[in-house]
Amino acid sequence: MALLRWGLGRQNVHRSSRVLLLKLTVIVISVLLLCEYFIYYLVIVRCRWPEVKTLAHGDGQEPVLKAMFLADTHLLGEIRGHWLDKLRREWQMERAFQTALWLLQPEVVFILGDIFDEGKWSTPQAWADDVQRFQKMFRHGSHVQLKVVIGNHDIGFHYHHGCISASLSINSLPLLGCQLLWWLQPRLVLSGHTHSACEVLHPGGVLEVSVPSFSWRNRNNPSFIMGSLTSRDYALSKCYLPFEDRVLTTYGAVVSFLVLLVLAHFERLPSSLLSGWKRCRTHMRR
Ligand SMILES: [Zn+2]
Repeated sequence: MALLRWGLGRQNVHRSSRVLLLKLTVIVISVLLLCEYFIYYLVIVRCRWPEVKTLAHGDGQEPVLKAMFLADTHLLGEIRGHWLDKLRREWQMERAFQTALWLLQPEVVFILGDIFDEGKWSTPQAWADDVQRFQKMFRHGSHVQLKVVIGNHDIGFHYHHGCISASLSINSLPLLGCQLLWWLQPRLVLSGHTHSACEVLHPGGVLEVSVPSFSWRNRNNPSFIMGSLTSRDYALSKCYLPFEDRVLTTYGAVVSFLVLLVLAHFERLPSSLLSGWKRCRTHMRR
C-alpha cells in the first residue's frame, strides 16, 4: 500500500514538472514572438503617410510619390562589434524594414549613407559578405525602388576627402553647401550623417531635414521619414520604431516572473511569499 502511494506521488511530481515546463516554454515563446516580431507591426501600423495638396490632373488628381528616407544603418563588419550585437542590430533593422515595406507600401526608398560601419577597412571578401547581408536585410519587390547614397563610413571618404563625407549633408559644409544649393535649386534637402533629427532653413527658404539613424546601436528609438511628394509640393512625417529600453524591460520583468514561478513550484520561496503565491493561485482558479 505504501509502495503504491509512493508510486502515485512520484507520478504527480512528474506531471506537475511537465506542466511547469510547458508553461515556461509557452511564456518564453510568446514573449520572444512579441518582442522580436509582432512589436514592429504594433508600432509601425500607427504611422501614416502625410497629406499633400494635389492639383487636378487630367480626369483626376496629380500623382503622389510615396518615398521612405532612412539613414546610417552602420552594418557592423568583421573588425568592430561583438557577433551578438551584430546579429541583434541586423535582425532589428531587417524586421523594421520588412514590416514597414509590408504595412506602408512605399514606391521608393532612399538610404542616405553610412550603410556600413567598416567600409574603409574592409577586405574584398569582408566587403562582399557585408554587401550580401545588406541585400538580404533590405530585400524588396520589383515594384519598390531602392536608392542608396554613399556615406563616409562606406568608403572612408571621411579621412581622405572630407567634402564628400556628409552624404548630402550640406549643413556641415557651408561653402560647398551654398554652391550646391545655388546650382541644384532644390525644394527640399534630406540628409544623414548626424544620427539625430534636426531641421535647418537655408537661404532662399530651402528646408534641410536630417534623418536620424535607423540602427538601435545609435539610438534607443530609431525612426525614418515618410514623404508624400508631388511635382510642386511635399509633406513629411516621421515614423518611430520601438524603444529598445522598453523591450529590455519587458525581458527583465518576464525573467523575474519565470524565476518566481520556478521557485514557487519547488517551494523555495520564503514562507510569507509562498503563502501569498498559493492564495493568488487559488483566487485565479475560482
Ligand atoms: Zn553615421
